[in-house]
Amino acid sequence: MTTGSRQTVIPITELEQSAFCRTDGNLRTLTLEEEFQAGVRWQKVPIRYLKMSPEEVSAGIASARNALGDQVLMLGHHYQREDVFKYADLTGDSYKLSKLASERRDAQYIVFCGVHFMAETADILSGPHQTVILPNMAAGCSMADMAPTEDVEDAWDDLTSVLGGQDEIVPITYMNSTADIKALCGRNGGIVCTSSNAGLTFEWAFKRAKRVLFLPDQHLGRNTALKMGIPEDEMIVWDPFQRLGGHTPETLRRARVILWKGHCSVHTRFTTGQIQESRDKYPEVNVLVHPECTRETVDAADYVGSTEYIVKMVSEAPAGSVWAIGTEINLVNRLANQNPDKTVFCLDPVVCPCATMYRIHPAYLLWVLDGLMAGLVINPIRVEGQTAIDARVALQRMLDVAG
Ligand code: SF4
Repeated sequence: MTTGSRQTVIPITELEQSAFCRTDGNLRTLTLEEEFQAGVRWQKVPIRYLKMSPEEVSAGIASARNALGDQVLMLGHHYQREDVFKYADLTGDSYKLSKLASERRDAQYIVFCGVHFMAETADILSGPHQTVILPNMAAGCSMADMAPTEDVEDAWDDLTSVLGGQDEIVPITYMNSTADIKALCGRNGGIVCTSSNAGLTFEWAFKRAKRVLFLPDQHLGRNTALKMGIPEDEMIVWDPFQRLGGHTPETLRRARVILWKGHCSVHTRFTTGQIQESRDKYPEVNVLVHPECTRETVDAADYVGSTEYIVKMVSEAPAGSVWAIGTEINLVNRLANQNPDKTVFCLDPVVCPCATMYRIHPAYLLWVLDGLMAGLVINPIRVEGQTAIDARVALQRMLDVAG
């Protein structure tokens, strides 16, 4: 079976999100059939994978890895569930993994345990002899889905017709967007950013134009602009469901930062109330959150930074310190396990993983590895033609700016 790059990204439903949110703090491995029964709509797999016990899946993956050897490089994002993350050869956030994909030219197959936009980026940056595989094609990102290609193209046409050309506005897209949106940025003088280098890309953009269109996460865009000293009254939110994004031409001309109306459903769960509760319980607590959180949450926290920054801060903290973290639960649990001399906990008392990251069940991993053993490439991610060329331009600008 072969599949193209832009397909089968199934949006998460509230049912699916709530199916995996637990108050008992327990994210145990279920069989794939049990996870299907929880009410989710994932990519279909051959029936035998549904019934396998976690132990059978684990033994199958170990044996396939052994047989395939260096042909396969497995990349694991920090938000992956532990029962998948443990198989990764290399781990990191989306920026680190995209750099690794551009540097590791030896493996023929890159199995990307993450979400769709990450696998697309890996395909764009990897060599032509390499194939990127996403174990479950339904592992998308709800934030990336909030910026569909047609809506962004329409918005860009509207903005440039009101504002003028490239010295008036530069598009910046967060890594968490489709290859189409990265390509739109590449061919319109724009750039890609991650949460660790968003500030650098804003500086880069303001040397070239008076304004920035930031896609698709309004919170990362707002938090970055505020940190650079841009007041909130110079920012507007573009609502794709309204004419001219809900603004007049005059308002658009006055704005310096135009924020796409998108958000992360995981990071917007963290609130100032949760921060206050953690301070009440642990007066010495360090509150550390991701910049995809809302402005209010970021303002109330002690530290703000990317996923890699969060890992570094907690790992290097002194023994006995207390950390309340506002990011995805699988990473927080892992940090707690890796730092038993510190108190590390999630700001949100309800254990609620990123539902799309969670779609990479170990049985899917076994399925694609079994495919490779049989000479079959299941779920290749390919970004073709001009889209790949233009997206690579925007990604390369980021790599040049951020190193
Ligand atoms: S944590 Fe948020 S931004 Fe990251 S993959 Fe999940 S939904 Fe997308």
